Amino acid sequence: MKNFDLAQTFQLAGIDVRGRLVRIGPALDHVLDAHAYPQAVAEMLAETLVLGATLASALKYDGLFTLQVQSDGPISLLVADVTSSGELRGYARFDEDKVAEAATQDTTQDTTQERAKVPRMLGSGHLAFTVDQGPNMERYQGVVALEGATLAACAQTYFRTSEQLETVIFLGSDVGSKNRTAGALLIQRMPHDNSKDTDDVEDNWHRVVVLLASLKLEELLDDELSTEDLLYRLYHDDGVRTYEPKPLVHKCRCSRKKVETTLKSLPRAEVTDADGTCQVNCELCATDYNFTAVDLDRIYGGSDE
Ligand SMILES: [Zn+2]
Repeated sequence: MKNFDLAQTFQLAGIDVRGRLVRIGPALDHVLDAHAYPQAVAEMLAETLVLGATLASALKYDGLFTLQVQSDGPISLLVADVTSSGELRGYARFDEDKVAEAATQDTTQDTTQERAKVPRMLGSGHLAFTVDQGPNMERYQGVVALEGATLAACAQTYFRTSEQLETVIFLGSDVGSKNRTAGALLIQRMPHDNSKDTDDVEDNWHRVVVLLASLKLEELLDDELSTEDLLYRLYHDDGVRTYEPKPLVHKCRCSRKKVETTLKSLPRAEVTDADGTCQVNCELCATDYNFTAVDLDRIYGGSDE
């Protein structure tokens, strides 16, 4: 998977358009392997992760970017975390019966049904993203209602209404194959430059949006096609300029030390099982942390309080 797990920035020379192309493969596998997700959930989580990585790559920040989708439907929570160094993790919470029921409504080949994943799998709720750059920096948060048919549509609405930035995102995943992959291509029209002819600016934007719409999912997820070649194929007439791709990797930020700190903040009696041991499972990566009575003695300084 040489052309996956990366985020690439590009610009179209002469037009005020910038873009991001993101592809995840092995990193996505790691996230999905941690839990036995039904296909419909794996698909939504894959799309949340790639959307999160795309939005994160379009921001300048030093810390943690979190994309969170909370709703009242079969899938109640989707989380994607991306650090500024490209470490990715994610998680989904869902009701198995409701997901199975909603998935049976997907038997039709009707593309409008396929597109309406958000109302069917998520219901109503919101999509929020947060940028956390540490205790001394103000947290940035953006929120948009889940009113689009897809997560990409909801994100586009956010950019248009809150940031006044025309944005188009093409996003897709393939979680049914051996190599599970997801990809996203985002283009963004930079604030209008008054020195240029307005008609030209409109025409140029319209043309690059139409070209984006011509992209096929197979191309977006084709490991034989490098990100440079894909962008050149799409935008060679617009003088596409690509930058060095940034690697993405799956990594959970949990650790035994962090779990110990959390345990220490709780009464020992509350965390201890009948046999005197304690088991903690990371919700995100499913890693088990086991503590014996001896470990707990050390953590709690030998006291039973
Ligand atoms: Zn973890």
